[in-house]
Amino acid sequence: MDIYVIQKDCTACGACFSICGEVFEPNDQGKSEVRPGSDDELPCVMEAIFACPTGAIHLDD
Ligand code: SF4
Repeated sequence: MDIYVIQKDCTACGACFSICGEVFEPNDQGKSEVRPGSDDELPCVMEAIFACPTGAIHLDD
């Protein structure tokens, strides 16, 4: 799977970093980015997707 964050939809709320800091990290604008080489199979990825208030996190098969 490929996980990505639509930057224009991210409000930098920080929920995904709190829930799944192994995969998501803030960029210099405070918005979420996927850590290079992170494990997108971690269960917390789905938790972060459900927790994101704007639906900015997406998965592609
Ligand atoms: S939970 Fe969503 S809106 Fe909040 S920082 Fe993460 S991607 Fe951005």
